[in-house]
Formats: sequence, C-alpha cells, structure tokens
Amino acid sequence: MNRTRVLVVGCAGQMGGTLVRTLAGEDDLQLVGAVDVVSVGDDAGVVAGGARADIPVTDNVPAAVAATSPDVGVVFTSPSAGMATVRALLAHRVATVVGTTGFAESDFEEITALCREHDSPALVASNFAIGAVLMMRFAAEAAPHFDQVEIIELHHERKADAPSGTALRTARAITEARAEGPPPAGPEGAPSRGLPHGRVHLHSVRLPGLVAHQEVLFGATGQTLTIRHDSLSRESFMPGVLLAIRRIRGLTGLTREIDSLL
Ligand code: NAD
Repeated sequence: MNRTRVLVVGCAGQMGGTLVRTLAGEDDLQLVGAVDVVSVGDDAGVVAGGARADIPVTDNVPAAVAATSPDVGVVFTSPSAGMATVRALLAHRVATVVGTTGFAESDFEEITALCREHDSPALVASNFAIGAVLMMRFAAEAAPHFDQVEIIELHHERKADAPSGTALRTARAITEARAEGPPPAGPEGAPSRGLPHGRVHLHSVRLPGLVAHQEVLFGATGQTLTIRHDSLSRESFMPGVLLAIRRIRGLTGLTREIDSLL
C-alpha cells in the first residue's frame, strides 16, 4: 500500500503533537517530517509525548519539504506563523491542510491565488471537530425561526485569537440563513454586551481548564433554544484532520471547512 506522506508544521504544539501521536496509529498515513521553532533536533514522537518516531524536529519548511517529499503538509502553527507556512508549502506544490486560526479574508484571497498559481489544493478549517461542524449546521437551520441569537465561545486561556474562528463562522452562517440579520439587540454599545458581528453578539471566555466550547443561544417569544458543542480534548479534532489529510489531494483550489467532506 502506498502510504500518504505527511509533514506536520507546529509539531511541538498541542494540536501538532496530538496529530503526531495520532498518525502513529494510522496504517495508510506516514509521518515523514516535523517542523517547529522549538525542540529542534529532538525526536518528534517523543516531543509529542508518544513513542519514538525517528523523525527529528527541524525548523525550516522548504528544507523539510525538499528532504521528505511530503504528499500533504498540515499546519498547526501559532497564528502569526500561519500564512508564511502556507505560502512555503503551496510554493513547493504540497497539498496543504490548515488548522491554524486567525486568518483575515485577504489571507483567504491570497491562498486561493496561490492554489491556482501552483496548481495545488488547500483546505483551511477553523474547527475540525465533527460535532462543531454539525453545531454550525444546526444553528443555520434554526436561525430563520428565532428573533435573536447570541454566541458564547469558551476556550483555554492561551488561545491567541478572540473571537474564535468558529464563532465568526457560526455568526456568518446564521446571518446568511436569514432573509435579514437578527433585529438589533439592546442596549446597543454597552461594553458587556459582547462584540456585534453583523447583529449577532459574540462573547469570548478564556479560562484554564477549558479546551474549546461554544453555545449558540436563540430566543423568541416564550422560548429559547441552546445548541452547545464541547471539545473535551484535542483528540476530538483528529477524525476531522485525518479526513482532510485523506481527501485533500482529490480537491481543487481552496476549500474552507470540512463541511463539504462529511
Ligand atoms: P500551540 O501554541 O500549542 O502550538 C503552536 C506551535 O506552533 C508551537 O509549538 C510553536 O512553537 C509552533 N510555531 C510557532 N511559529 C512557528 C513557525 N514559524 N514554524 C513552525 N512552528 C511554529 O497551539 P495549539 O493549541 O496547538 O493551536 C495551534 C493553532 O491551531 C492555533 O491557531 C489554534 O487556534 C488552532 N486550533 C485549531 C483547531 C481546529 O480545529 N482548526 C483546533 C484547535 C486549535
């Protein structure tokens, strides 16, 4: 069997490390390279808290691509390094799966152009947890039937971006599902009413002990509906990441989110 050769960038982080450990149990996927700016020279499997992988952590994406000829590059760097990594992978025609969050719309436009220029696919997902994808779908379905909606997203205290990519995407899906945005919710401009995204107010909570959680609260006369998803560990994201790795080479251009793969 030809195994898919995978390069993990951000391999010493929480998500990259979980992916390194997960890949070790997948017969059709093979970790061939691991990049990070910390733990350079150490064994990627050990750095990830698992068994030895006999793959040293290196700190240069083009060099790692040249040395390992990956089929797929997976990006779980911190947000500040995300675009540089995506540029480096696509420039070397590596199919690219991106979990790093915090991209601007202009970044997505650039990735679309890079995919075209280098004839290579990219998939960027703000949330690889399949339950979270369903939460967004269900929220879009409920949106036309309720007057108002607010989103509370809760994450660990080290998350670099706020609001989360998932909250922004959910707000966009809700707005698109309604003929008009929800009516204004008062008191407008009060500092504790959250960040208006369109007319959906977003609230971000950051606390140690949390992983990734979101509640979408709908309200109408005499009733509320709450849709909640909890990622209780980083393993919750892995089925979605593996799905993206297995399918990316059959895709063209930029795919946003894993919704279309389910
Ligand atoms: P983390 O801080 O634990 O890991 C980030 C890693 O990137 C670190 O090891 C860091 O050294 C490394 N890094 C920084 N700059 C680099 C560079 N230039 N080259 C290579 N590596 C570099 O963070 P995390 O919790 O693993 O999250 C990583 C990203 O994934 C964040 O943007 C987070 O929001 C996102 N995330 C996405 C999902 C999803 O489902 N899409 C789920 C959880 C987290």
